[in-house]
Order: sequence, then structure tokens, then C-alpha cells
Amino acid sequence: MERIKEECGLMGVFGGPEVTRRVVMGLYSLQHRGQESVGVATTNGETIHVLKRMGLVTELNKEEKEIESMTGIASIGHVRYSTTGNSNINNAQPMLASTKRGPIAVAHNGNIVNAPEIRKRMEEEGSIFQSTSDTEIILHLIARSQKTTLVEAITETLVQLTGSFCLVFLTDKEIYVARDGYGIRPLCMGRLDKTWVVASETCALDLLGASYVRDIKPGELCRINDNGLESTTFTTKPHRAHCIFEFVYFSRPDSRIFEESCDKIRRKIGKALAKEHPTQADVVVSVPDSSNTAALGYAQEAGINFDIGLLRNHYVGRTFIDPSQNVREQKVKLKFNTIAGVLKNKRVVLVDDSIVRGTTLKFLTKMLRDAGAKEVHIRISSPPVMNPCYYGMDFPSKTELIASNLTKEETRKLLGADTLEYLSIKGLLGVAPGGAENYCAACFDGKYPEQIPAGSTKFRCE
Ligand code: SF4
Repeated sequence: MERIKEECGLMGVFGGPEVTRRVVMGLYSLQHRGQESVGVATTNGETIHVLKRMGLVTELNKEEKEIESMTGIASIGHVRYSTTGNSNINNAQPMLASTKRGPIAVAHNGNIVNAPEIRKRMEEEGSIFQSTSDTEIILHLIARSQKTTLVEAITETLVQLTGSFCLVFLTDKEIYVARDGYGIRPLCMGRLDKTWVVASETCALDLLGASYVRDIKPGELCRINDNGLESTTFTTKPHRAHCIFEFVYFSRPDSRIFEESCDKIRRKIGKALAKEHPTQADVVVSVPDSSNTAALGYAQEAGINFDIGLLRNHYVGRTFIDPSQNVREQKVKLKFNTIAGVLKNKRVVLVDDSIVRGTTLKFLTKMLRDAGAKEVHIRISSPPVMNPCYYGMDFPSKTELIASNLTKEETRKLLGADTLEYLSIKGLLGVAPGGAENYCAACFDGKYPEQIPAGSTKFRCE
């Protein structure tokens, strides 16, 4: 699929050797959650040292000597998603503040939907901000709190926030971990000997050799220090609202999110798609890599061979070129190539996880036909994306969303496919573990778990 700009990824390590190195290693496996900037903050028990770079985790890892020197007792890290307009190191995380309680660094995944109104209020009261980030607001709220303990100050702050947030705080001696009351984004906890590890996805625990303990619960605030882990509940909501798109596309299939294997659910999604929209075909092909698992599920259910008819070049990186039509096609060709032997004279089912603008899929369909495909039947393993996400996913505006402008038939024609079908909301939520009522599917059905305040930023993960 065309890459939706993603949210962010978090890591935290308390205790054990090489805390900084471990966080940086863990961030490698969360790279898919953000490619714009990367950072790590480490405490030696007294002071916090922050290292941030624009770009991929490899950019941070080039700072061998500095990472080596960041010895300490605990460390947190962050990969930030890519966007335009506010792409600068000031918005990179973790963010560090000096407060009357000592230094506090924070890393955030999500979007605080009432950040604009809180920020406006604070600016009227005289606060000065260094970044355009909603995360900085969290630090201000904690710093200004009159509560006695840090747990109370963080709690007082968290209950003022609406939207999605997974947060990892680092102080000189402790780590605090929090997740919003709906549990919109994933966040898990693991152990490696005596070391505590927290991460956005369990694939980061696997990389470190840590074992999964449990998810951070929605509305939970954990404090981790030399005495172990203490947990409190800062809020309760009537239900959960996990982002269903994490299962469709964002999370890695080798991760366990929302207490279930992403691979397992993504296969079920593919199977549900085959049940709803079967077709006569010779081969099932995926748009690699994000659709591989759903395509496998489709093929298994439909009893059609799955084969690799499209190959993705993983070494292209980001391409900053003029997005005129011709160049767009070149850009798709830079990333994908066809395998003619798999496609020639075949009726092909092409499985993709979603359609946003449809530009990539249009070129891919043409490439399949150029490689000799007799028929191309597009099957999408999610419903049409119709609405913005306020919880950390950067979908384009409604005017650019193909499904909010064209009917399914018009979209099929534009893509040049023989048939086009989407998985229904019922079909998608029908395979969601724990029941449909525990998921957000607002980008498909417009039902946000809570009212979105006027003037909210649509996405921000800073
Ligand atoms: S609106 Fe869509 S992408 Fe955003 S949290 Fe809800 S399901 Fe996920």
C-alpha cells in the first residue's frame, strides 16, 4: 500500500547492563512506527543525558562513542513518524525538562486531541514553548502541578488529557509508564532477568531476548524503580477502544498487540475477506510487505495458490521527488517489480490492506497487466477509509481520500481492476479479539470513542 505516515514507537529499560544500547537495539524493531527522528535518554542516577537525531535508528547508532558513554540505570527511547511542516529536531523525542522535582524526560506515542486548548490556556498564562509538540504540554502540566509526589503530579496531568497516549517518563531514578483509558495504542511490558522492558510492540522484547509479561492496562500508571513495579489506575472508561488499524496494517505481524498475536488476527482478516468476497482466480498475490499475511489468509480460505508476484525493494529509502504523475509511476517502479512467470496468463487476486489515495494501487494494477495478468481482482482487507484519525495516524485529508470522493465502481475503474471489493466493518470487527465494542474503527465508520474537541489537530505524535 501507499505508506500511511505512522505514529511513533516507544522503548523503556530499567535495570541491568547497557540500558542505552538495549533501548537503541529495541528501537530498530520499532522503526516501522516512525522514520523521521529517533532519540534516547538515559539516567545515571543523577542526571539525564539525551541524544537525538533526525532520520532512522542507524543515524543514532552512528554515535558509537556517545552511546557508549551513556551508562546508567534506566533509559527510554522513541522513534517518531514522518510528517511535513514540523520536521525538526526540536520536535524529536525524548523531550527533557528541568523541574522543581528534578529532570524529567518523556516519550509519547499518540495524539492529545485537547492539546490546542490546553496550550492556548497555558500561553495566555505566560508559558513559553520550545516546540510545536503536544508532548511538551505534558511536561509543563507536570512541572506546574502543586501535588506533593510525582505520581500525584503525573496523575493530575493524565486526567486532563483526552486522546491517545502511551507515555514513558524517565526521572533521575525511576521510569513511569502510562496508557490512555481506552488503550488506543499498544504498549507492553517484559522482563529480561532483573531488567524491566516496556515497548510499543512485543517484537522489541523479542529482539532483546526479554519475555512478554503483560500489556500496560488502559488507564494504568506504572512506576518502576529499585523496589520493583507499582501500579495504579488513573482513569477508567466504559470500554476499550484499541485501534483496529494496528491489526490491519501498522503493527508488525510478529508482534503480540492487544493481548493477541497480530499474525493470527491478520490471517483471520484475510480469511474473512475471502469468505465475504470470493472470486475465481489462479493465484493470490500480495502487495508486499504489509499485505503478505492477509493475502496468505485469503489464499488459505479460498483454496487458491499464494505466490510472490510482486517484489518490494527494501533499499530505496525515502524519495523526495516531484510528485507529477510520471514521476509517481517511476516512484512505484522504484519500490516494486513484478515476476512475470507468476503472473502471465493468470487470473490474479491482488490483496492490499487498505486504499488511501489509490495512486500506488493504480500503478501496481497496470504493472500486473503489463506482466501478462489476464484479470486483476483487487481485494482490500479493510473497509474504505472515510474519516480522519485523531489518534496518531496521518491519513490525508478527506478531499484526498479516494473512498470519500469516488464510489466503489468509480474507484475500480480508476484502478483499472476487473473487480474491487473491501472487507466490511462487520467482517473486520468480527475477528477482533475481545469483541467489536472494544475497538476504534472511526476512520471507517466515523464513530470516535469520545467527542473530538473543535480545533483538534488531526494527528500528532510528537
Ligand atoms: S481512527 Fe482509525 S487509525 Fe485512528 S485510532 Fe481509530 S481505527 Fe485507528
